[in-house]
Amino acid sequence: MKRNTLQRQIVMNALKKMHNHPTASQVYAYVRADYPTISKATVFRILNQESEEGTIMKVPVNDSEMHYELKNPPHYHLRCRICGKVIDAPFPYQAHMEDVEQVNGFLIEGHSIEFYGICEECRKAEKSRMR
Ligand SMILES: [Zn+2]
Ligand SMILES: [Zn+2]
Repeated sequence: MKRNTLQRQIVMNALKKMHNHPTASQVYAYVRADYPTISKATVFRILNQESEEGTIMKVPVNDSEMHYELKNPPHYHLRCRICGKVIDAPFPYQAHMEDVEQVNGFLIEGHSIEFYGICEECRKAEKSRMR
């Protein structure tokens, strides 16, 4: 049985409602609005435990803080270098690229590709500033 089941549910519900792959700090800020007594350490610990157990995933992006999302089939991400938002890329995961195992004996378990650039909102904001 899992400890802290109620706190765990609170954190998991927050992650379900939040989009765009929040960081642990963002999950904490979201949860704290409704549950002011929950500690930052608890939220961070639950996110870590859940990702170790595989119910949520760490999102591999080049950012200073780890992002999280609920378990999903593998997919790529787009990261905005202005506002830091991370969204799912709308093109298919290239599972066949993992077939090179046969070439040199290296066992590939997965891969990640990060696309970075400027999101729609930030591009609009930039345009209106230049006007
Ligand atoms: Zn942006
Ligand atoms: Zn994602």
